Amino acid sequence: MLGKIIIFALIVAIIYFFIVPKFRKKDDKKDSQNFVECEKCGTFVSLDEAVLSSGKYICKECLK
Ligand SMILES: [Zn+2]
Repeated sequence: MLGKIIIFALIVAIIYFFIVPKFRKKDDKKDSQNFVECEKCGTFVSLDEAVLSSGKYICKECLK
C-alpha cells in the first residue's frame, strides 16, 4: 500500500518536472510565432490583432 503511494508520488513528480515544462516551452514558441511586427509603428502584436494589408501587417491602433 505504501509502495503504491510512493510510486504515485514519483509519477506525479516526473510529470511535474519533465512533462509540464515541455508544454510550457511549446506554448512560448507558439506565442512568439503568432506575433508579428506592425509595419507602421513597429509594435509586436499577436496575429489575431494584426490586419494583413497589402502583404504587410498593421496593428489595429494604426488602422484607426
Ligand atoms: Zn501599429
